[in-house]
Amino acid sequence: MDDQFKNALTQLQNVAKLIHLEDWILEKLSKPERFVEVSFPVRMDNGSIKVFTGYRSQYNSARGPYKGGIRFSPQVNESEVKALSAWMTWKCATADIPYGGGKGGVTVDTTKLSQGELERLSRGYMRSIYQIIGEDVDVPAPDMYTTPEIMAWMVDEYAKLTGKWTPGVITAKPIELGGSQGRTEATGLGGVYILEQLAKEFKLDPKKTTVAVQGFGNVGYYFAQFAQKLGFTVVAVSDSKNGIYNKKGIDIEKALQFKKKAGKLEGFKGTETISNADLLELPVNVLVPAAVENVITEKNASKIKAKFIIEMANGPVTPEADKILEERGILSVPDVLANAGGVTVSYFEWVQNKQGYYWTKEEVFRKLKEIMVRAFKQSLEAKEKYKTYMRIGTYALAVQKVADAVKLRGV
Ligand code: NAD
Repeated sequence: MDDQFKNALTQLQNVAKLIHLEDWILEKLSKPERFVEVSFPVRMDNGSIKVFTGYRSQYNSARGPYKGGIRFSPQVNESEVKALSAWMTWKCATADIPYGGGKGGVTVDTTKLSQGELERLSRGYMRSIYQIIGEDVDVPAPDMYTTPEIMAWMVDEYAKLTGKWTPGVITAKPIELGGSQGRTEATGLGGVYILEQLAKEFKLDPKKTTVAVQGFGNVGYYFAQFAQKLGFTVVAVSDSKNGIYNKKGIDIEKALQFKKKAGKLEGFKGTETISNADLLELPVNVLVPAAVENVITEKNASKIKAKFIIEMANGPVTPEADKILEERGILSVPDVLANAGGVTVSYFEWVQNKQGYYWTKEEVFRKLKEIMVRAFKQSLEAKEKYKTYMRIGTYALAVQKVADAVKLRGV
């Protein structure tokens, strides 16, 4: 076991003390209910056959079916999949959607596969796990290096294997196959609903509130775009190369058009180029890491000038940095809450699939807002109740919800 699952367990143990969790419940929540390792052969384009290893971790189902993505990456291993499945359990409980947590993956470098090989790999993985998933059992979705197109192959393979069309077995499908309106924007927009509520709670005037967003991919772009639409001043955005900054604000739509043409943000008219490290230390009100993990560390935490951080990426703040931010009175909205908009709209997709009745984008957004605002308020209350910082308060609340469900269902 390497570090990731150990980290997840350390967090759980800290929270268990705070909420006085019974020993047997802590022990139960320290292991997946079921962990499956699979291996399956895939025919490559040159006629050779390669055997791949995959996993599915079904962490906890006390609150509902296991829910969590499938990751295709060379780093996928047992510890990572278990840790991610534990975090999905807490994320679904934080958003208060009726799911447990799960995660899956295949150890593979997809950049080395042709489209045909990728399809055969996706179908092969589905053949290996289809007996343990199902729309009321375990509902996968995309994660790193898996896409709606891959979900389409998997849901099709599942239909062929079971002999019936059950779109609710997988979420974040293309719209044509039962995907939900609004899923693409969901994570970024969900974070903006939190920003809006945060401004209300802490009496920030959106017009006078400056925001810096690291990352300009799916999450970062939609976050910046919706924040600007609500009147916040987005002063900086960045991609993997560089950031751009204008203290009066950046036109996000125009920046996107520029990036599409130039292939980078650097050089966008009226902005100065800054590094990704500089972006994190800008004098802004709200800082939004929306790219990669571990960007705020013990090295730069004391230089952060923003009073609020909204963690849209997974794991952007290290535990050492967390302590420094807390001591400096900086409020960091944790990832399990801030980026829960994605899994929330996945839940809506599943509900629509089960009903066979589809909602408009406006309806999806309205329901998303309700859930994000409620979860944010509950987390703030938990922070006060346990007299701790927001991440611990949020985890405490989530673990308590799962523990209550475990207890109610009995032994
Ligand atoms: P993406 O691949 O669409 O975009 C990533 C962006 O980050 C790109 O703009 C890229 O240029 C930039 N980037 C890459 N390396 C960087 C670096 N070292 N420094 C700064 N910028 C860098 O990915 P995404 O879907 O937007 O996901 C971003 C984060 O949000 C990830 O941590 C992901 O796990 C998390 N997340 C995504 C979703 C979702 O629905 N897409 C849901 C929950 C969490």
